[in-house]
Amino acid sequence: EALNKVGDVDIKGGWKDGAPVPYAALSKVFSMIEATTKRLEKTAILTSFLVLVIQRSKGKYESLLQAIYLCINRLSPDYIGIELGIGESILIKAIGESTGRSLQTIKSELKKEGDLGLVAMNSKNAQKTLFKPKPLTIPSVFANLKEIALTSGNSSQNKKVSIITKLLAACQDFEAKYIVRSLEGKLRIGNAERSVLVSLAHAAVLAEKEQSNKKWSSEKLAARLEEGSNIMKGVYSELPSYDVVIPALLEHGLDGLREHCKLTPGVPLKPMLAKPTKAIGEVLDRFENKRFTCEYKYDGERAQVHKLDDGSVAVFSRNSEDMSKKYPDLVQQLPKCIKDDVKSFVLDTEAVAFDHSTGKILPFQELSRRKRKDVKVEDITVRVCLFAFDLLYLNGEPLLQKTLHERRELLKKHFIPVHGEFDFATSSDGDSIEEIQAFLDVSVKDGCEGLMVKMLDTDASYYEPSRRSVNWLKLKKDYLAGVGDSLDLVVVGGYYGKGKRTNVYGAFLLACYDADSEEYQTICKIGTGFSEEILQQFYDLLKPLELTKVRGDVKVGGAKPDVWFEPKTVWEVLTADLSLSPVYTAAQGLVEDRGISLRFPRFIRIRDDKDADDATGPEQVAEMYRNQALAQGGGGKKKKGG
Ligand code: ATP
Repeated sequence: EALNKVGDVDIKGGWKDGAPVPYAALSKVFSMIEATTKRLEKTAILTSFLVLVIQRSKGKYESLLQAIYLCINRLSPDYIGIELGIGESILIKAIGESTGRSLQTIKSELKKEGDLGLVAMNSKNAQKTLFKPKPLTIPSVFANLKEIALTSGNSSQNKKVSIITKLLAACQDFEAKYIVRSLEGKLRIGNAERSVLVSLAHAAVLAEKEQSNKKWSSEKLAARLEEGSNIMKGVYSELPSYDVVIPALLEHGLDGLREHCKLTPGVPLKPMLAKPTKAIGEVLDRFENKRFTCEYKYDGERAQVHKLDDGSVAVFSRNSEDMSKKYPDLVQQLPKCIKDDVKSFVLDTEAVAFDHSTGKILPFQELSRRKRKDVKVEDITVRVCLFAFDLLYLNGEPLLQKTLHERRELLKKHFIPVHGEFDFATSSDGDSIEEIQAFLDVSVKDGCEGLMVKMLDTDASYYEPSRRSVNWLKLKKDYLAGVGDSLDLVVVGGYYGKGKRTNVYGAFLLACYDADSEEYQTICKIGTGFSEEILQQFYDLLKPLELTKVRGDVKVGGAKPDVWFEPKTVWEVLTADLSLSPVYTAAQGLVEDRGISLRFPRFIRIRDDKDADDATGPEQVAEMYRNQALAQGGGGKKKKGG
């Protein structure tokens, strides 16, 4: 059915075999995806389109690659970091120039609609055109977006406006809407990257089925679709680069993907994450009769360190950003920590500020004083020590499917601790409550946040890229004090200050992020405990993100901030209490019809190693609420150790 619907994109776009894919086809598909709220239907629509792309591109991978990038609104793998996110004022100017409308009219329409994409489309449609522009194609749109993203330096604003103006001049039907949204940095069609990955796998299966010329039973098809998406998800989490995965998919098929797309130094994989636990008893419940290990949970910044065959070293953040320019000292320090027989590796580590005079590690606040870019080794005041806790690749071989015990042995065998520069995460394999408690106390005394408890043997201890896994538990001193885990929330709105603070925002509206619906859900207003200096800093940071109207992907509820922001900045926040709320929308429907809000939220730090998409999700919020209700109501099951 979806294929039939997608069929007419074909006719409209005049899309011929072997020719570039018309952008009209893709924008039609976007509008169909946006028009439905049903997840399966969204996936089916995109799948059908991708089947056409595969079939008509005749084995050339570029069309499929660019189509996928446009669907997830990126232009390169994360670690290359070519980013969109063009400011509202540049876009308004370009819409004005290409349609002849005044900036005033565009702004007032934006105030009404809250969607610059829609405003651009309406402005285009209201315009009389004397001649039909040459149709846009996926390669031309992709190339233009890339050029815009890469434009920098003097008069870059004017250059951007001029390219966007030309692009918009060629737009028809839905095209302007999605081009403008792409430029803004968010497509807002409610189709997250995970679903795009499934559509890609399904399209490969359907193309395979058509090619096989045999009849497939519906059971066979269903099984193969499921198998295909598992292969694709697995491969992509190990090698998150469509630049490599898509050509390999077309060349070797789904079944050849695993062999040709393995973890590769130079391409950061999405890190494995941990689940929070509130008590040592909970750890024992989970890991009873299994071998596990406790490691210090260092309070620094995650650093995935790669050594490539050519001898170069790169450091990547939790977000796959290349941090080699932030940590030139690490790049310099590393060679002496590596034994001669090591040619290539991928290490999972925490970079921690280190005081060489006392020989002690320093809190995260010290680390955050370092510049993020273009650091010169001679200017460094805050020194950093790497604490390695995992080895994921060694001399040409991925180790993800070895046990943690084996990976750790290899780590210790091939690397050399150097005081204050490189060390192995301190660990203890003791498994009684008393031993864990004692180890936790020492870790805190040594300046750590608590412990990470990890499965040590069997396949449960394999490294699971991008998963928040139950095989890794975090036990923070804060949870034991009853404070609970922190949340990472997106700043979506601001309230002007009062009294002395009228020139800055005095409070902020925060939201969690629902990756399924691609929606920000408001959760609390935070406004106490900020110094004047911090408020000024936040103002400078957030002012450029101000929007004329709230964006359509923010589920506002009853919140009424004075200004809205582009959802971009992530803050780590602690709360003493979660409660049901008639005002905020976080986790609405998960516990009750009402949303959940944070009472007495406390700002901890800016998380610039997280994107808005990495913010805490509504399920986590609901889980925290339920856990709290259990703890308060005394209805929780009795834990070992009291
Ligand atoms: P948070 O850092 O706030 O706990 P997170 O979402 O960044 O949250 P989690 O998976 O919840 O990540 O916690 C694990 C983080 O702790 C890792 O990302 C890493 O940066 C850090 N860490 C410190 N020591 C270790 C260790 N021994 N093993 C694994 N991770 C560690």
